Amino acid sequence: MILDDVLRTPAAIRAAEAHTAHNYHPLPVVIATGEGAWVTDIDGRRYLDFLAGYSALNFGHRHPALIGAAHAQLDRVTLTSRAFVHDQFAAFCSGLAELCGKDQVLPMNTGAEAVETAIKLSRKWGYQVKGVPADQATIVVADGNFHGRTTTIISFSTDPDAHDDFGPYTPGFRLVPYGDLAAMAEAIDETTVAVLIEPIQGEQGVVVPPAGYLPGVRALCTERDVLFVADEIQSGLGRTGDTFACDDESVVPDVYILGKALGGGIVPVSAVAANADVLGVIKPGQHGSTFGGNPLACAVAIEVVKLLRTGEFQARAKEQGAYLHAELQTLVGEGLLAVRGRGLWAGIDVDPALMTGREACERLAERGILAKDTHGSTLRLAPPLIIDKDDIDVAISALRGILK
Ligand SMILES: *Cc1c(COP(=O)(O)O)cnc(C)c1O
Repeated sequence: MILDDVLRTPAAIRAAEAHTAHNYHPLPVVIATGEGAWVTDIDGRRYLDFLAGYSALNFGHRHPALIGAAHAQLDRVTLTSRAFVHDQFAAFCSGLAELCGKDQVLPMNTGAEAVETAIKLSRKWGYQVKGVPADQATIVVADGNFHGRTTTIISFSTDPDAHDDFGPYTPGFRLVPYGDLAAMAEAIDETTVAVLIEPIQGEQGVVVPPAGYLPGVRALCTERDVLFVADEIQSGLGRTGDTFACDDESVVPDVYILGKALGGGIVPVSAVAANADVLGVIKPGQHGSTFGGNPLACAVAIEVVKLLRTGEFQARAKEQGAYLHAELQTLVGEGLLAVRGRGLWAGIDVDPALMTGREACERLAERGILAKDTHGSTLRLAPPLIIDKDDIDVAISALRGILK
């Protein structure tokens, strides 16, 4: 088959489904262009993007500063490998480290790779610094977690779809209920090198832990000489109204895992940020990535860091998020069972007697709103942080319409 414009017609796109692995079940919308909070399909219909690439598009589609940085870098150099240093690298590392309040960053590409990096880092730190006996390291993780799709990461997933039939599984992880400090204290012993959690569980339906949980985890990790590793891939970089969801409770983890929005919706960029006494345990040759920290990725991510340094996006998430949540609350009892979340991030439970989450998303798409169901009848709403009140009104009235 020839890869030409013929494949861009709706009929050709449907026919090509036979050649696509069915690891996703997309809504029947074929997007052609995007700008800000809006996308346009191949028939010219416009949709408000209330998923924002699972928070990879925090700054909206094609933010001018990010696109400008990408264009400029495309005309200079795009890939060097880490065998050589390029002129965007230092600015990226120091800028991101400063944003995180840490000494160092280790760049990777996808979120899962950054989580893998944090797992390897925690284990090496455990053996070399904490003195855990060889191959005995344990990491405490939470029920309902989502940290990515690699073999090791899905080994400790409690979602049967993510986990089942992919064994044999990687050992060394202990599951505890999310939000339960006593269970975590119980699970930690002298072999424990890290606690790995999401400060808010996005994939699980934007589940916010009880107040005091994150400070409690912090205290426990300090007391027991365990690294607090926060997976802020989805919750971080402005989404909740602060730079990091941990900031909302004034908690500073030992290790941040970042991804998604770090690439500005243009290229995959992920990173682990920590202080030198932790990241310093990894020496040349012990970990790496061909594309990690490439010039194009760094040029875009530098601009992402600059946008976040203004605080403007965090403030918008807080302000517009308060409005979004207030509006969503008016639908509780009117077709919604519950609303959770923080900032411009909401998990909403549609009454399953009315429709499934999938059906809700299909009906929203018919009304020009793109959203994604997660488990059962739960929808996750995460519009770009640039969204304004009028656009939120458009989404709320569509939601009200489908729940009637
Ligand atoms: C998306 C996500 C990941 C995995 O990122 P990929 O880029 O898809 O590998 C890991 N953790 C969290 C919390 C995520 O939301």
